[in-house]
Amino acid sequence: MNEYDSDKMKDLLSQKMGFQSTSLKEEADVLIVNTCSIREKAQEKVFSLLGNWRKLKKNKPDLVIGVAGCVASQESDEISNRAPYVDMVIGPQTIHRLPEIYEQSLSSKKTVVDVEFPLIEKFDSLPKLSKSKFSEFVTIMEGCSKYCSYCVVPYTRGTEVSRPLNDILDEVNNLVENGTKEIILLGQNVNAYFYEDREGNVVNFGLLLFYLCRNKGIKRIRYTTSHPNNFDEQTYLAYEKLPQLVSHLHLPIQSGSDRVLAAMKRGYTVLEYKSVIRKLKKARPDITFSSDFIVGFPGETEEDFMKTIQLIKDIEFDQSYSFIYSKRPGTPAASLEDSLPDSEKKDRLKFLQDTINSLSKNRSKSIIGEKAEVLVEGKSSKYENMVTGRTTNNKIINIPGQDNLVGELLKIQITELNNKSLKGEILIS
Ligand code: SAH
Ligand code: SF4
Repeated sequence: MNEYDSDKMKDLLSQKMGFQSTSLKEEADVLIVNTCSIREKAQEKVFSLLGNWRKLKKNKPDLVIGVAGCVASQESDEISNRAPYVDMVIGPQTIHRLPEIYEQSLSSKKTVVDVEFPLIEKFDSLPKLSKSKFSEFVTIMEGCSKYCSYCVVPYTRGTEVSRPLNDILDEVNNLVENGTKEIILLGQNVNAYFYEDREGNVVNFGLLLFYLCRNKGIKRIRYTTSHPNNFDEQTYLAYEKLPQLVSHLHLPIQSGSDRVLAAMKRGYTVLEYKSVIRKLKKARPDITFSSDFIVGFPGETEEDFMKTIQLIKDIEFDQSYSFIYSKRPGTPAASLEDSLPDSEKKDRLKFLQDTINSLSKNRSKSIIGEKAEVLVEGKSSKYENMVTGRTTNNKIINIPGQDNLVGELLKIQITELNNKSLKGEILIS
């Protein structure tokens, strides 16, 4: 999500405000850091970076410094107090106002702060792309109304708001006309998508997938992130009927213990989560899964943790975003007693990640010899004269080829596993 917002700020700076990008910070007239506050570490990094930029400003008093994103949204007062040399504080829902905020900062001597949540105005004001990449993010909803007990997102990005159906379809048509083959739908909980037009017709996430697939230029659809509680019947049907939808799903569970899930206020049990997985597998037998995990949530016992490990083995997750619980001020979980030693939390995290890595390696081994379809993403970073593509199961495969294959959907055969990377050969069809 932050990548998307950063790209949009770059587009505004270059297309509407006349700036050129530079890789040298000493050369820049405007420096903006886009921030994340999901865990504490990310937040502290912001202040140390700002300390460095302050030195640049001493030599170049006209330099304009901005802080955007969720740290800006949550800590606007602290930024103005601790770093008064910051000129612009821009929340995640006001990045489209960057041109006006910039103008105001030039005329005022104080930090200009705009961290409102003006609903969906953001997307109407962002510049349309004249050239698109083969794969593009498309935001369909923003914010979160789930209020898990550990999480800052509902406070920093606001509550769930969906974009009108036609705006999304127009944006996608424009991207496809300009060369996009893969769409990655973006939102905190994409499957909470809900749009009702003036006549009272309702579009949910599943229906949106069917509408999108009417555009024959779209070769692949991925989405991130979905929530286990928001799957509707049309989404299961979409997995049955729409081959453009990939056979891989990132579905955060956080913990395999019902006790911990309840304390996290996730709103489902392990059994309910497994029932979603079962329905998805019924609709799409070859589907694979990855997930998010929080390790060391306050009160998590060894027994709770081992339930998470068991669940990982049951579902055979082959990738994860897993982190040690980070206490976030202002969230309900911040007041829970957290007495587990750091070393124990680190051991649990390592054990969890090792378990998933070994499942992933087993799966990689088991697909050697299989045929697959890959969408080519770019040059391989490891091997010369090879490109990298992704299978529908989200496995990265290196195949012989050059840049001209980027964006092509190719039939390949998977031939070998070298350390962690898979190699394949193009099949002539
Ligand atoms: N809306 C999505 C995920 C958005 S946040 C979902 O809930 O399914 C991305 C991930 O960050 C979460 O899934 C969670 O694993 C992690 N996260 C959020 N708050 C955290 C915290 N306080 N400490 C550690 N990890 C956290
Ligand atoms: Fe945070 Fe929970 Fe919302 Fe995900 S669903 S963004 S973890 S509050």
